[in-house]
Amino acid sequence: MPKHLVFVGGGHAHLTALLRLRDYVRAGHRVTLIGPSPFHYYSGMGPGLLSGIYRPAEVRFHVRKMAEDRGGAFLEDRVVTVDPVRRSLLLGSGREVRYDAVSFNTGSEVPADLFGPPAYDVFPVKPIENLLAARRRVETTPAGKGLRAVVVGGGAAGVEIAANLGRLGRESGRIARITLVSRSVVLEDYPPKARALALASLARWGIETSGTPNCSGEGTASRSRESRWPGSESTPSGRTASSTKTCSRFSREGLCAGSIPGVPISRY
Ligand SMILES: Cc1cc2nc3c(=O)[nH]c(=O)nc-3n(C[C@H](O)[C@H](O)[C@H](O)COP(=O)(O)OP(=O)(O)OC[C@H]3O[C@@H](n4cnc5c(N)ncnc54)[C@H](O)[C@@H]3O)c2cc1C
Repeated sequence: MPKHLVFVGGGHAHLTALLRLRDYVRAGHRVTLIGPSPFHYYSGMGPGLLSGIYRPAEVRFHVRKMAEDRGGAFLEDRVVTVDPVRRSLLLGSGREVRYDAVSFNTGSEVPADLFGPPAYDVFPVKPIENLLAARRRVETTPAGKGLRAVVVGGGAAGVEIAANLGRLGRESGRIARITLVSRSVVLEDYPPKARALALASLARWGIETSGTPNCSGEGTASRSRESRWPGSESTPSGRTASSTKTCSRFSREGLCAGSIPGVPISRY
């Protein structure tokens, strides 16, 4: 019997599944991809997007086209609630989508509640497109104004963001000062030699580093006097950042397993 298979989020794992989407359609099933944008941006190249090393077209996948070219449907929307009993998804637009099987690849987010309501000069690092907005913010700053920038999160992603901001600052001449704020030693869990090399590189870009007892959690964004800057997704121990916010969304629906931060991965 034909089923309705729904992919939520066109993230990295789903890219491979999307390549095989035609197989599901040929087998008689209906497939829908739901995502907030027709494009998925590759996070590993995000910092280079900020500095301008990469252009947007070099960094992103056209997930809408990937789905539609293979016979699937694409809904530009965001899932806000899962009802596993009714096998139903509630979308941001208010629309309801019923499924027979659903796969989530929604990634991680910087928890917005850690830095208050959305604000003009705060750029959470996810979605990666925010880094483009941050770049535009620098480019549209009047010359000579001298932005003060703060990057929050001393993991690998925070270091990459800070270094690329350093490059953007040097090339644009519009950033006066960059501080990387970490709740502990920058790159704490990395080998000492790797940390020393990274810190030396940051110093060459003129970036200050600072541990702070006020920075209470991973992925937070803090404020500077003139400007507030990219809240970096934290990647402690080189691991992919856990999705605290996504987990709480799932746990409300009874899908989260105990204290594990995320939905457990089954044999599928
Ligand atoms: C600056 C930076 C650099 C990084 N560099 C590396 C690296 O070099 N190597 C590495 O291994 N890891 C790196 N990471 C970590 C990396 O982000 C994650 O490992 C990776 O993105 C996880 O992939 P994902 O597919 O799970 O999630 P994502 O890449 O976050 O994809 C999730 C997708 O789901 C969509 N989505 C989100 N919420 C919803 C919703 N409610 N409804 C529908 N769709 C939704 C999003 O729009 C997005 O397209 C980096 C992270 C950052 C921030």
